[in-house]
Amino acid sequence: MKKLIIANWKMYYGPVKAGAWIRAFRRERLPKELDVAVAAPFVSLAAVRASLGRASIPAIAAQDSFWEKEGPYTGAVSPIMLLEFGTEYCIVGHSDRRKYMGETDEMIAKKAQSLQAEGIKPVICVGETAAERKKGDALKVVRAQLRAAISKVKTDSKTPIIIAYEPVWAIGTGKPCSTQIAQEMHEAIRTVLQKKFNSAADDIQVIYGGSVEPRNILDYMTTTGIDGALVGGASLDPRNFGLLCRAAVPA
Ligand code: PEP
Repeated sequence: MKKLIIANWKMYYGPVKAGAWIRAFRRERLPKELDVAVAAPFVSLAAVRASLGRASIPAIAAQDSFWEKEGPYTGAVSPIMLLEFGTEYCIVGHSDRRKYMGETDEMIAKKAQSLQAEGIKPVICVGETAAERKKGDALKVVRAQLRAAISKVKTDSKTPIIIAYEPVWAIGTGKPCSTQIAQEMHEAIRTVLQKKFNSAADDIQVIYGGSVEPRNILDYMTTTGIDGALVGGASLDPRNFGLLCRAAVPA
């Protein structure tokens, strides 16, 4: 299985800057051993698609979607709308959305289910806060988030799910999680997945996110159980993100 690196632009880059980013990134040399995707804001998906032209790398990802197909849901965007842009992945339950948009485990489960049903790979984010880790609750919190988020996904679907372990205290802080902690959390995640998916759990990518940079990406990529990375800040500069992708593969 290839490793997967997803850029999460968060609320940066409208269509003009998004198009420029893609054109610049297309000049970057990328290792064949990687799948690379870019999670753009909704308003920039068309520009990403247009700037890619015939190129299929990076794959297109969205940062959220609503669970209904269509209807009176002002401001919402559905998986079938995302498909019109060739969207292959969609982040679900990012800690920003849990924190600022009040997303609950129940909503995240419905979003993951509806994305998978439409053939878009949900990238389900789980992760504990600093306070939860301090209290010794990290494993309990992450297991509970994960069990809830995957409660409605199908175990026999052709569309794989992806899990992103993102400790909230490591996101955007420049304080990355140690590879030991990441490995322990990834193992716990894999065990929960095995209970639901049996042997099919082996094919689910579990990626790490939180202050990943070119200088530390290889440490994560070479840690057992880590299948890729979700990258925020270090993906905003296309050349830095290209550097990070090259650094993800041992020389
Ligand atoms: C993120 O927002 O998903 C993220 C991992 O951010 P950063 O890389 O900036 O920590």
